[in-house]
Amino acid sequence: MDFERAASLQPSPLVDPFGRTVDYLRVSVTDRCDFRCVYCMSENMTFLPKQDLLTLEELDRLCGAFIARGVRKLRLTGGEPLVRRGIMTLIESLSRHLRSGALEELTITTNGSQLPKYARELADYGLKRINVSLDTLDADKFRAITRWGELDKVLAGIDAAQSAGLKVKINAVALKGVNEDEFGSLIAWAHGRGMDLTLIEVMPLGEIGEGRIDQYLPLSMARARIAERHTLEDIDYRTGGPARYVRVKETGGRLGFITPMTHNFCESCNRVRLTCTGTLYMCLGQEDAADLRTPLRASEGNDLLNAAIDEAISRKPKGHDFVIDRRTKRPAVSRHMSVTGG
Ligand code: SAM
Ligand code: SF4
Repeated sequence: MDFERAASLQPSPLVDPFGRTVDYLRVSVTDRCDFRCVYCMSENMTFLPKQDLLTLEELDRLCGAFIARGVRKLRLTGGEPLVRRGIMTLIESLSRHLRSGALEELTITTNGSQLPKYARELADYGLKRINVSLDTLDADKFRAITRWGELDKVLAGIDAAQSAGLKVKINAVALKGVNEDEFGSLIAWAHGRGMDLTLIEVMPLGEIGEGRIDQYLPLSMARARIAERHTLEDIDYRTGGPARYVRVKETGGRLGFITPMTHNFCESCNRVRLTCTGTLYMCLGQEDAADLRTPLRASEGNDLLNAAIDEAISRKPKGHDFVIDRRTKRPAVSRHMSVTGG
């Protein structure tokens, strides 16, 4: 085959209408979870019927199709990714893309509860850094925020991850009147253990049966509060995600801010999100989505799937527009974070 023809058959990279290359895929492998965090889920959630879920083999094939189109970073999330039955089989299988060099990074975002069981295996399958979500170090508050979680288990999970050699980044949602007095102790704790800490603003995703306005704390306010006792130095460090980092002079550690509400970070968005039913969301903050399950199941080859992926990427919107105020009663999008994956 001549060179030009061979080149024309190479699957092309994913570039959206605004010239942004999509090389980061986040996959929500389940919408279920062993916690019920107040900002993420209502207490009585209805989950997807099991038969609607993609099988682990189908998820593997879909991820493979994206990797063939230039995705270099894959994050498994949920719901709680580590409660999906057989999840380690999927991670083991995906690790072949790390060995081949096609994938730069395979990682997860987890609530940490299952890490005592799985941390070692995750490290064995080539994971290097993971994100653990933890909003407070106070056991009672932790129970109040997660409704079902136990702080001790998560702390044991973080210990297990670090012992297995995984780098851990802590993500904490900033919650007005709940953990805003704890940022100093979270910084001291995380940095003392060599972990970056990132604060996240509450986003209006899904009905949760409580007012967002009561939870929402603009990170500009959190930052000002932290700066009363700490020296924050702007640094260039980026992880490929939307966080902006500073160095805390007193601890030497990094503190990140993810500010979807007060600062729009869409210009450099390089990601798309796949749900456990094979729906692709081109933006976390928009309803528009593409069904990849139908083309996936329609044939064994990936031509139909690739065409559907191309069509979806051509619709990736410029950005999102979240509003949390007293007049805006409905969430910006109706699906919960546990569906799209955080
Ligand atoms: N269960 C895993 C966990 O908690 O890390 C992964 C999924 S969870 C949906 C991913 C991240 O989204 C978590 O850090 C969580 O705190 C965050 N999150 C959930 N709902 C949110 C919301 N409404 N606004 C901002 N962050 C949210
Ligand atoms: Fe579960 Fe994560 Fe949502 Fe909490 S934030 S309910 S741990 S999916």
